[in-house]
Amino acid sequence: MNLRSFFHLAVSVTLVLLVGRTFFVLGLFVPIIVSGDSMAPGYRGLHCESACTACGRPVVCGLQHPPEDDLIVCGNCNRPAGKFSAAPSRLANRLWIDRTTFLFRDLRRWEVMVFRCPERRTDYCLKRVVGLPGEKIQLVDGDVWINGQLAYKNLSQQRACRQSVYDARFPTATTRWQAEQTGSTWHQQSGRFTVAAPAKGPIDWLVFRLPDGPPLTDANPYNQGLTRPLHRVSDLMVTTWLQVTKPGTLWLRFRSRGQTYRASLDVMRRQVRLKVNEHEVLRRDLSAVQLTSRPGIPIEFSCFDQSILLALDGNVIFHWKVPHPNANRPGSSATIAIGGQTLTATLDELQLWRDIYYSPGLPGTASRAVARVAQLADDEFFVLGDNSPASRDSRHWAAGAVARSTVLGRPYRDWHRSR
Ligand SMILES: [Zn+2]
Repeated sequence: MNLRSFFHLAVSVTLVLLVGRTFFVLGLFVPIIVSGDSMAPGYRGLHCESACTACGRPVVCGLQHPPEDDLIVCGNCNRPAGKFSAAPSRLANRLWIDRTTFLFRDLRRWEVMVFRCPERRTDYCLKRVVGLPGEKIQLVDGDVWINGQLAYKNLSQQRACRQSVYDARFPTATTRWQAEQTGSTWHQQSGRFTVAAPAKGPIDWLVFRLPDGPPLTDANPYNQGLTRPLHRVSDLMVTTWLQVTKPGTLWLRFRSRGQTYRASLDVMRRQVRLKVNEHEVLRRDLSAVQLTSRPGIPIEFSCFDQSILLALDGNVIFHWKVPHPNANRPGSSATIAIGGQTLTATLDELQLWRDIYYSPGLPGTASRAVARVAQLADDEFFVLGDNSPASRDSRHWAAGAVARSTVLGRPYRDWHRSR
């Protein structure tokens, strides 16, 4: 046997042993049923679901925190949506644990994993990984900081973490998207928005406003009866389908943490620019992007983790990061607006989202990584639940982090999520 054959044999034997060990001890794919509310709304335990009697949007809520007055409040229109006791209950999500993926690669930040619960080794836990071995973790103003640097999410990670704030396909009595100035050409009908801004006119802005102007918070309609302090949110995303009838410029504006970010999408010149307070910070050519196709082009524009991201048709056009993110400034609510200039266009499926706000923790419990930095050992992960105020996770467990030896695998695909 030459060296090459011996090497091939050694690799094959190792693979067979690895697969054999995994398969015989537990199985390559293990079925699990989600319980509890900690990863909602993406992964749900037993829950209830009914259509809101006011706006028609499905309201999904967990059973762990029933409302005291038995009334469900809709997260979309903020009106009573029906009785909790009368809402049909739904089965918990069923998943498979894929035990093979982490045999071939390391865990990545922001992915969801299954592991043996630190407090009861016979149970399995499902959480999102935010800290990797050896890192220093701190949660500041809802964001994750790693070794003193803000942790960013790419587009697919932002999609996985975003939580619905308002879905214009289910309009409310008082519309949330309102024209900023009188004489506006914005028009809204059945969740579809049209603008017909005249040539050489000013930017015609459509602004998102909650009735009576309260700030946007990390309120989560999944936890109907949970009483806790709410936090103002600065991280928003808007998604829509843009259909251009007459070329002009579409504007997207965030005001967040004392800064104004304005992106202009010039359909005629096929160019995108980003300005921070009146200073241009980037310019991108869009000649390869089909902007005027039918039935339109999907737009995703976000201000997550002190970074501005624009994606057209699922492709990231830019992801600009604030040069000196501020760790200490207290959170303020962000505002968002969409503007038209010399543009006739339609917006469909307009939705507003927010990032997960990692809250200080369950009331009355110690919260690791909140007041002080948490240091991970070389074989530990820091994990958090997506439904942060209702999750028991690395912030609270006595052991804190999750040891690598207790990691089981990752939940198999997301086919369950819409069920
Ligand atoms: Zn509603």
